[in-house]
Amino acid sequence: MSVGARQLLDAIRGMDLPRKIKIMNVCGGHERSISHAGLRGVLPPQVELIPGPGCPVCICPEEDVYEAIQLALNEPLTLVAFGDMLRVPVNVPRSEPRSLEQAKAAGADIRPIATPMEAVRIACEQPDRQVVFFAAGFETTIAPVAAMMAEGVPDNLLVLLSGRLTWPAVALLLDSGEPGFDALIAPGHVATVMGPEEWEFVVSRHGMPAAVAGFESESLLAAMYSVLRQIQDGEPRLENCYTSAVRPGGNPMARALLARTMDVVDANWRGIGSIAGSGFSLTQEYREHDARLRLPSYHDEARKRVGEMPPGCDCASVVLGKIYPNQCRLYGKACVPRSPIGPCMVSDEGACRIWWSGGVRNGDAENAKPTLRAQ
Ligand code: SF4
Repeated sequence: MSVGARQLLDAIRGMDLPRKIKIMNVCGGHERSISHAGLRGVLPPQVELIPGPGCPVCICPEEDVYEAIQLALNEPLTLVAFGDMLRVPVNVPRSEPRSLEQAKAAGADIRPIATPMEAVRIACEQPDRQVVFFAAGFETTIAPVAAMMAEGVPDNLLVLLSGRLTWPAVALLLDSGEPGFDALIAPGHVATVMGPEEWEFVVSRHGMPAAVAGFESESLLAAMYSVLRQIQDGEPRLENCYTSAVRPGGNPMARALLARTMDVVDANWRGIGSIAGSGFSLTQEYREHDARLRLPSYHDEARKRVGEMPPGCDCASVVLGKIYPNQCRLYGKACVPRSPIGPCMVSDEGACRIWWSGGVRNGDAENAKPTLRAQ
């Protein structure tokens, strides 16, 4: 831990906190940093950190994953997707492929990629074969997809888009009147692209303290100290604790590319349901590359059911910050990273997987706060 981080931790420990304060850290990357650094274990007992809906793999709706699986199994095409998406399970009979990984094992041409440009390369290498890019992710992932589209893609490359904006999910929690947290740590990477202003509504509409954080312990502790001070002083505001990367207005070029290539639409979130203005779809100019318009439909409306998770899986409650990962009955028993039951145990940004990888083994629902030590 850096000297600066240690000083911030000492400052937090020295605060006179009158009551339990719950801080939601929205971003899966933040959750990973917090868990790997063991920050929960060194904070005062009155401070709780709750992981939020910031894992794109966890909230990717089941119907989109199902559609990708069926396209790959039934159509003469190559399907490419970011690696984490390959292991996301859907609810189908055990006799059928339950993930893209299992569809691949069953003979479908499915390939993991790390960047949109790999999708372009694969399409260029096989001009006579259709390539479908299953593009799921938040603003930080969809901005490079927007850049890819604006630059121009081969005719045989189609996009099955499942992009989401993060702030509407937090707005949904706050608008519910029972968010279950007292302050917010806003996602640094998203703010880098979209600008910190996107999170002003947390303060202006809900009077809740908020701070944008980076991914080092020092930046995260600075954001925690900021929101705790705001609560203590009774003066909520939005503070940018990631000034090395987050600028007012975000990244103008990335935002312009998003505006040119993507419309903002209502969208379904796995475990949460439809959220107004929370999804991306290709603009009219790029519709000829929309896989949903160009290929046979395998869309299954029944899969849109709110809260659709595998039986026994509490991912919906985990992504909404209602419970900790180790409060799920299946955590570490039926569900482990090697054989995940729900999407939160799949992704590197999924809270269940992060906690398991971080060594959290206790499933005591009464004392769910893990006791890992800071490094
Ligand atoms: S432990 Fe597994 S089953 Fe339980 S919420 Fe997490 S991913 Fe779902």
